[in-house]
Amino acid sequence: MLKFDHVSKTYKGGKKAVSDLCLDFKKGEFIVFIGPSGCGKTTTMKMINRLIEPSEGSIYIDGENIMDKDPVQLRREIGYVIQQIGLFPHMTIQENISLVPKLLKWPEEKRRSRARELLELVDMTPDYLDRFPHELSGGQQQRIGVLRALAADQPLILMDEPFGALDPITRDSLQEEFKKLQKKLGKTIVFVTHDMDEALKLADKIVIMRNGQLVQCGTPDEILLNPVNEFVEEFIGKERLVQARPNIQTVKQIMNPNPITISRDRSLSEAIQLMKYHRVDSLLIINEKRELRGYIDVEMIDQNRRKASFVSDVFETNLLTVNQDTLVRDTVRKILKKGMKYVPVVDNQKRLVGIVTRASLVDIVYDSIWGEDDLSQSV
Ligand code: ADP
Ligand code: MG
Repeated sequence: MLKFDHVSKTYKGGKKAVSDLCLDFKKGEFIVFIGPSGCGKTTTMKMINRLIEPSEGSIYIDGENIMDKDPVQLRREIGYVIQQIGLFPHMTIQENISLVPKLLKWPEEKRRSRARELLELVDMTPDYLDRFPHELSGGQQQRIGVLRALAADQPLILMDEPFGALDPITRDSLQEEFKKLQKKLGKTIVFVTHDMDEALKLADKIVIMRNGQLVQCGTPDEILLNPVNEFVEEFIGKERLVQARPNIQTVKQIMNPNPITISRDRSLSEAIQLMKYHRVDSLLIINEKRELRGYIDVEMIDQNRRKASFVSDVFETNLLTVNQDTLVRDTVRKILKKGMKYVPVVDNQKRLVGIVTRASLVDIVYDSIWGEDDLSQSV
């Protein structure tokens, strides 16, 4: 129903706001564009109703290139709600709701019955029609604002951060209400936000943008389960990822909480005995506060045993660590990329709390996260 075919926008002065966007949406989808400020969301939205014209590429609505349509006609066929326009205080609720139908020259009778019908949708009685905005609560006023977007019954509605200015509670209930309305009325909605919670709640499809480019497009589940890169992961946030993927957890939940340690003042022969006893080839060095100081391995001891006698003489301080709250997946990546045999796990005070070994990772998480295909790519 709505298709972007290699769409780019370069503003006068050379700013490339949107680059080579290709997207295809079905009728009735709730599409949410999300991304950091300046990534091109508003530009993309305004190209749909030709408030901005693409520099390259084409946009199709129901198979028809929008450049072949009269722009005024096009805009009448598309609902448009911009950031935070409130109700007009001197107009009644009826008049506020019916702004666009009036522009479209609907007869009075039809405008009134439409407004009545819409009020019913949000469980407000028709006697609100002749009241003025100041007689309504803040939440009720916002509902009227949303109804206004639906009033002319256009099949496609563009909304640019419409709930941006609301307090969290009103916002929450309005989001739910709006989502229900959209399903019921079968509208195709293009909605812009920078709030991931809002996107996850409302969207059938989420489009994540960065620097004018498409980063990922998918259902909320697809994006939560398979973020394409670290930018998306960061944007979603660790909390939500962990919730969404109960099989993928933080390092704390899979680490071995008993790494074999030694202190600096011990002798090398003690170190060797400890390694032998625990069948490990490396020991982590900690101080009295369990802060990680370095490591020592069997090779280092072997090379230095003639000239050195204490751990403090030979140990290495250069050691990568992960925090216990890191996602398992990131840790796997780190270990595989660097060819590490293990990573020590530290808490926020840099104290040693555990260890994740390459071997244990393979056992615990590989199959559940990736399956075999990606194994070859990652190693
Ligand atoms: P968003 O809505 O995601 O915050 P915009 O689409 O408004 O992003 O802007 C995308 C980029 O294009 C930004 O770098 C912005 O500064 C730039 N931009 C927006 N409008 C214009 C304009 N009229 N002229 C030049 N640059 C613009
Ligand atoms: Mg914007």
